[in-house]
Amino acid sequence: MVSRVIPVAPFDLVVFGATGDLAQRKILPALFRRFCAGQIPHGTRIIGAARSAFSLDDYRQNLAQSLKKNLGTTAIEDEKLVQFLQLVSYISLDGNGAAGWRALSAALSDGQEQSGSELRVQVYYFSVGPSLFGPLAERLHSHGLTNAATRIVVEKPFGHDLASARDLNRTLAGHFDEGQIYRIDHYLGKETVQNLMAVRFGNMLFEPLWNSQYVDHIQITVAETVGVLGREDYYERSGAMRDMMQNHLMQLLCLIAMEPPAKFDPDAVRDEKLKVIRALDPVEPYHIVRGQYAPASGAVGRDLNYRETVGNQRSSTESYIALKAHISNWRWAGTPFYLRTGKRLKARSSVINVMFKDAPHSIFGEEAGRHANHLKIRLQPNEGITLSVTIKEPGPGGMRLMDVPLDMSFAEALGPKGSEAADAYERLIMDVVRGNQTLFMRGDEVEAAWGWTDPIIAGLQARGDVPKPYESGSVGPGDADLLLRRDQREWRGINP
Ligand code: NAP
Repeated sequence: MVSRVIPVAPFDLVVFGATGDLAQRKILPALFRRFCAGQIPHGTRIIGAARSAFSLDDYRQNLAQSLKKNLGTTAIEDEKLVQFLQLVSYISLDGNGAAGWRALSAALSDGQEQSGSELRVQVYYFSVGPSLFGPLAERLHSHGLTNAATRIVVEKPFGHDLASARDLNRTLAGHFDEGQIYRIDHYLGKETVQNLMAVRFGNMLFEPLWNSQYVDHIQITVAETVGVLGREDYYERSGAMRDMMQNHLMQLLCLIAMEPPAKFDPDAVRDEKLKVIRALDPVEPYHIVRGQYAPASGAVGRDLNYRETVGNQRSSTESYIALKAHISNWRWAGTPFYLRTGKRLKARSSVINVMFKDAPHSIFGEEAGRHANHLKIRLQPNEGITLSVTIKEPGPGGMRLMDVPLDMSFAEALGPKGSEAADAYERLIMDVVRGNQTLFMRGDEVEAAWGWTDPIIAGLQARGDVPKPYESGSVGPGDADLLLRRDQREWRGINP
């Protein structure tokens, strides 16, 4: 299948934090891949900005090396790389001070008139720590670097709680319209996440069954194998609830649970997501399990032990959280949503499992066993969707039933062997350039998500809740199993 590339007009993109981990690993490789795909035209300007001093040649050389390192299996054509580097320049700049802003201004004003009467799209990507989001917005404004075609991309974390998210929204709103602010959650750029909407709203098959009458429960799992080494300070202040649950899992929950929007339009989709968050019940303390990874017996290594990694033997920050949520609306009343996420787990796996109810009456008798349909939506790795259906076990021996998967792997179904699906960052950055906010979080959505999260965190703190240890490489603390067992259910496995 040939992917369709819609070219855009030449644009300017300034990456603040261009020497940092995210820019080097994700943002710049994503731009290079879009360039190779023919989507980024000649005349586009990509400007890296950070405090470190680099000559243009040195920055381009470093970037070439980092692209080779970070593009994994993507073959790099030397000619393409040379052409791409021609689009890239670098400015040493302090987001908190005065240095470099005049140079940025000069670089951007030069050539602005090229595009004739149409304003040239200007994207400022804030790939820096959150304390710089406000200062950057203020400086862009005070140096006259904004106009109606300006868009800013703001990375997570968007606030630490409701109050700080509100403050940040207020600061950004002082300089930009909501339509210019792109709060990124890269989970929303994943192929399967968008397919989730296509599957739900493009087929007659699922939507009639998508409610508490037919769905027994839904499980959302985002499991990681990595620990927190390298991000200790940030993680110790946030934990899994703030780092993952409030944003990534919440967004997945919204897409699974929302009503069909009237059209696939940014505000229509985001209005429906917001309604889901607002319909979430507060979570009861006994419906929450927190954990901290610890070494399996005999295993040695600093990053197998959370407390050792963060250097705090009394830490009560969770590296794992599981909870049971309820949505109080007509569609979902009575259907629990079990959400879990953690670090140093058995496998890297992001999966949504929609577990349908048993057939109301089995005509095959007790011995045929219980067989319920189950839709598994794999976000990573191996993006795809599997529907388990019940069939007769082949051969003689009576009517024995078994479940078989109808499996659609996107890599196999949608691309030539070995081709890579576009990375979430590629899709999201090009959406910013095109001015499409559908897959970005609106300010009120983020605030509503914090509004649900804050009381949960406050309740845990008030109870003096201590996370349960779980073995690195396991599926998490045993208490998380009890959370479902109490309801006569069980977690699906965590498999790569
Ligand atoms: P990082 O590796 O620490 O990079 C920070 C960047 O900001 C560097 O380029 C640094 O360069 C620059 N910087 C720091 N202070 C500056 C200042 N005063 N003026 C201008 N530039 C300044 O951080 P990161 O991991 O790339 O993360 C960047 C943002 O993305 C953070 O908000 C993070 O939470 C978010 N994020 C990261 C990831 C990830 O996988 N890394 C994932 C999701 C979200 P100089 O020191 O040269 O100035």
